[in-house]
Amino acid sequence: MNDPRHRSPAALHLLTSLALAALAACSPPSPPAAPAPTDGTAIDLIVDGTYIVTMDQQLSVIQDGAVAIDEGVIVAIGPAAAINAEYSAAEVLQGDNRIVLPGLINGHSHAAMTLLRGVADDLELMTWLNDYIFPAEVEFVDAEFVRIGTELACWEMIRGGTTTFVDMYYHPDVIASVVEACGLRAYISATVIGQRSPDAEGAQDSVTKGLEFIERWQDRNSRITPIFGPHANYTLNEEQLRATREAANEAGVPVAIHLSESLYEVEYSKQNYGTTSIAFFDSIGFFDGLTIGAHVVWPTEEEIPILAERKVGVIHNPTSNMKIASGISPVTAMLQAGVRVGLGTDGAASNNDLDMWEEMRLAAFLQKVDRMDPTVLSASTVLRMATSGGALAIGLGDKVGALAVGMRADLIQVSFDDVHFVPTYDVISHLVYVADEQDVAATVVDGRVLMRDGEILTVDTERVRREAKALAGRIQVALAERNK
Ligand SMILES: [Zn+2]
Repeated sequence: MNDPRHRSPAALHLLTSLALAALAACSPPSPPAAPAPTDGTAIDLIVDGTYIVTMDQQLSVIQDGAVAIDEGVIVAIGPAAAINAEYSAAEVLQGDNRIVLPGLINGHSHAAMTLLRGVADDLELMTWLNDYIFPAEVEFVDAEFVRIGTELACWEMIRGGTTTFVDMYYHPDVIASVVEACGLRAYISATVIGQRSPDAEGAQDSVTKGLEFIERWQDRNSRITPIFGPHANYTLNEEQLRATREAANEAGVPVAIHLSESLYEVEYSKQNYGTTSIAFFDSIGFFDGLTIGAHVVWPTEEEIPILAERKVGVIHNPTSNMKIASGISPVTAMLQAGVRVGLGTDGAASNNDLDMWEEMRLAAFLQKVDRMDPTVLSASTVLRMATSGGALAIGLGDKVGALAVGMRADLIQVSFDDVHFVPTYDVISHLVYVADEQDVAATVVDGRVLMRDGEILTVDTERVRREAKALAGRIQVALAERNK
């Protein structure tokens, strides 16, 4: 709060008024940045809402509330009348018929795979991988593919109210540059895989290059956390997995990995390491340091307490697990055992979108039918998994995932104008069981507005649409030729 503006709110107000008058004189009126009517403490942004769903411990909901934001941080939260009397913001997001809540956290994605969305569906896993995904990746995944695919993903995530994602793909510098520009928050993995990949010659080369990537990005932008992404224990051997964990610990970064995703992986683990997947990782000290484990469909009863004790962040991906027929993750049992569980979409090739609203809904329904018990995985539990629980799972629980003073200002406004919000008895029930991407009206990350009234402000959507269509056209022709 050392900004000179704070010592002179009246002067700022005058400047703002003059600037707006000048703007009005030379261009059509612009909807944003309505200054607050008072001369309170000058801050950057106020976000109003008919309901503020804080996602704090008590699940407090503030009616007719507002969130005051300055320099990327929440400085106050409470009744709108009080906030607007105390603060004068450079920009205000009006909150009539809007629900404000923390931005959603997508704990597992391969963002650039948006370009392979729908390239091949309804196939047995190995056919899908060997005849479609791998050939398309070998031939097409370069820096340009990753740039366009990640921009497409960022557009979709901003549209749908996701504010943080954990990504695993190739050319991480390109991913980081796109994220830096579009304004989202992300963990970006240097992917490590024991074979030639689009950006490395093998495991050792990817660890070396990964360390260089981490060094370049570690202190560059507080929204971007470079991490290691060893692919899985069937694409890397024990020595390579140990080396990656060691490199991550030396660099002081977490790792994200596919963990106990399929029965194939568990069988492979038994045959090659003599024990099931999670027990194997624990036996080599792989969980000594924050681990974000994607999927975790097949933990044994003995392995669930290991996940809790080692504070492994488990990311549940119900859509992908259903579409690829990986199985049903024992989410309820893991939560009961104290495991930190968040939600993710996985890549758009196996989902086929990055819609966290659908992910919440399916997570709830899948557990209920699996347990034949409609009381498990309630709406509030699922909303926690997509916000504060997901933040805790990835080690950001003290920064994002809930709306409270001192937290980074990552939040969204959901409009409840649409017919499916009529009537609304319980806001949290509606967010989980009714809302979808199209209802998100505004997305804010670190206090910066990335989408306002449905308009994306930080991605050139028409250019990205054009580039994505052109590239997809080339992929389609090449795959048709190959599979003739
Ligand atoms: Zn994955």
